Amino acid sequence: AKAAGRNAVRFFSPAMQEAINARSAMEAALRHSLQGDGFRLFYQPQVNLDTGLIGAEALIRWFPEQHQAVSPAQFIPVAEDSGLIIPLGYWVMQTACRQLRLWANDARTRDLKIAINVSARQFHQPDYVERVREALQESGANPARLQLELTESVVLENVDEVVERMQQIRALGVTFSLDDFGTGFSSLSYLKRLPLDQIKIDQSFVRDVMTSANDAAIVRAIVAIAQSLGLQVIAEGVENQAQLDFLTETGCRVCQGYLFGRPEPIEDWTV
Ligand code: C2E
Ligand code: CA
Ligand code: CA
Ligand code: CA
Repeated sequence: AKAAGRNAVRFFSPAMQEAINARSAMEAALRHSLQGDGFRLFYQPQVNLDTGLIGAEALIRWFPEQHQAVSPAQFIPVAEDSGLIIPLGYWVMQTACRQLRLWANDARTRDLKIAINVSARQFHQPDYVERVREALQESGANPARLQLELTESVVLENVDEVVERMQQIRALGVTFSLDDFGTGFSSLSYLKRLPLDQIKIDQSFVRDVMTSANDAAIVRAIVAIAQSLGLQVIAEGVENQAQLDFLTETGCRVCQGYLFGRPEPIEDWTV
């Protein structure tokens, strides 16, 4: 079997082999950074147009030794495939919970929430609910300030199980947002069943809202769906005033994007 395995390598073209090597090198480097302190959370403001700052989305940044920062778009897929996303995701949750606990000491930041991205693979871990409870307890964070961002990939499998798990986590006080809404295969029938607090309009629709009648119509429709289901709606990727004006006109009052602030280390935040 070993010999066959070695021969099998020949079926890969040199370009494919190179890609495989690069991937396993990245996997090794990710593993190394996870043991050290090669990751940081950056925080991007979320703003309610009526009341002001309401919180932040935590976005992971990887600073491998002796290299430039690597974009999550590049390393999250490798972390997913290798399973490293699971310890990495717990690190994100613990770090965000500790930040919430720090914020609780200051009247200006006490009511802010932090949203974290949860990969489907992590959400389906048998002990996930327990680990959320643990992160909250260990940090002393207020559960009501933690929001979990799920994508539609989470509900590809068993909707009943997902609903039950979400309810267990909500019982702790934690809230849920459905990220990248409109880009997956969401069916409205299960959207109704998920115990969500918020849906997030994907930035791909926001980007071209001024030039694409289709995207404008999609954004209007998403806002209407959210309103009819009684969910908060947030637009991500808001970069300019024209987009903001359009969103305001549709009734979307919560926004995130470069217009309000880029993801930054918490030390650079001025609240
Ligand atoms: P996402 O969850 O959809 O995050 C939004 C992305 O849009 C972020 O990219 C953010 O920096 C970027 N962004 C924010 N405002 C604007 C804007 O006005 N214009 C434009 N063009 N982009 C904007 P980022 O930080 O590179 O993250 C990319 C993706 O990586 C995230 O997409 C998310 O899917 C994933 N990711 C990031 N952090 C984590 C994490 O801690 N865990 C997991 N599982 N995934 C993560
Ligand atoms: Ca997100
Ligand atoms: Ca998103
Ligand atoms: Ca996205």
